[in-house]
Amino acid sequence: MLTVPQLSDAWSRSFRYLRLSLTEKCNFTCNYCLPDGTDCHSMTDDLTLIEIRRLVTAFAMLGTEKIRLTGGEPTLRRDLNEIIRTCKSVPGIKSVALTTNGFRLEKDVASWREAGLDALNVSVDSLRPEMFQLITGSGKLQSILQGLEQAQSLGFQQVKINTVLLREQNARELDSFLDFIKTRNLTLRFIELMQTGDNVDFFARQHLSAESIRQRLLADGWTQKLRSINAGPAKEYNHPDYKGSIGLIMPYSQDFCASCNRLRVSSQAELYLCLFAEQHLSFRDLLQSDDPQPVIQFLQQAILHKTAGHNLHQQQTGSTKQLAMIGG
Ligand code: SAM
Ligand code: SF4
Repeated sequence: MLTVPQLSDAWSRSFRYLRLSLTEKCNFTCNYCLPDGTDCHSMTDDLTLIEIRRLVTAFAMLGTEKIRLTGGEPTLRRDLNEIIRTCKSVPGIKSVALTTNGFRLEKDVASWREAGLDALNVSVDSLRPEMFQLITGSGKLQSILQGLEQAQSLGFQQVKINTVLLREQNARELDSFLDFIKTRNLTLRFIELMQTGDNVDFFARQHLSAESIRQRLLADGWTQKLRSINAGPAKEYNHPDYKGSIGLIMPYSQDFCASCNRLRVSSQAELYLCLFAEQHLSFRDLLQSDDPQPVIQFLQQAILHKTAGHNLHQQQTGSTKQLAMIGG
């Protein structure tokens, strides 16, 4: 339902994909993200259901078709099912996806599907329980893997696994991960560790380029798939002997920002033009009425300030201290 021109920036990129954070809170302590757990200052004021409906309506009128719910840990929201249902009911929204650490997956995935969830990304940083515990601080690996099996039987458009590549921790598990997707219709995405304000030393020790994995895949007969218009940032690869596919998210690669099609909004209604922007623009006051026009005008003005790319290569991480603030 496009009623005003499609939201696009000065570099002719259009934005059909919104990542909406539902909370900054998280119950895991991933060593690359929140090693000391959630900051106490972020405990209040998450967007309400009504504010979410108004926000999504304005984005949809500007051409957004896909919403990803993220966090923090979005499944900590008690009203998650209503949020999914609300997003799905907004005219123009074709797909609602969720990124989760999976701790409620086994218990709740069927109800998310029933509420209208179309796609699911689950973070699994290791297939070995001890390594999983070391990285995430959680002992839930078995339950998460069982939840993934369940999810696959529920008819989702896509079920994906996110794995952050860590040089000294999970990098040697490539063969186990490949085995895992041989018979499962899952996309496994290796994400290169990104430097944020809080993980500078950790990044220096653990960052590993996914280029070595790309070379190995190509040598082993994997081929790159074509990218769809609403696709996320991964380059995806298929192999005739594997039911699943592999995605590589390489934010440090040259052309990464050229295909950017997404905007981010925090759980306090701050617009992030880039994950690594210096400034976040709050528009919560505009969500206090049912009129979408002020939000539309705000977004049309704000998008003109989106820069061509991030400055991660210069170690400039903007004001993003960790990705739980906004969702990766
Ligand atoms: N809590 C949920 C989860 O972990 O899936 C959603 C939020 S989390 C911030 C979203 C994704 O960002 C996860 O797949 C996580 O592994 C990834 N992530 C977090 N910090 C990262 C970093 N510094 N570099 C790369 N990926 C990161
Ligand atoms: Fe929590 Fe996700 Fe960050 Fe891990 S990556 S600490 S699960 S927000």
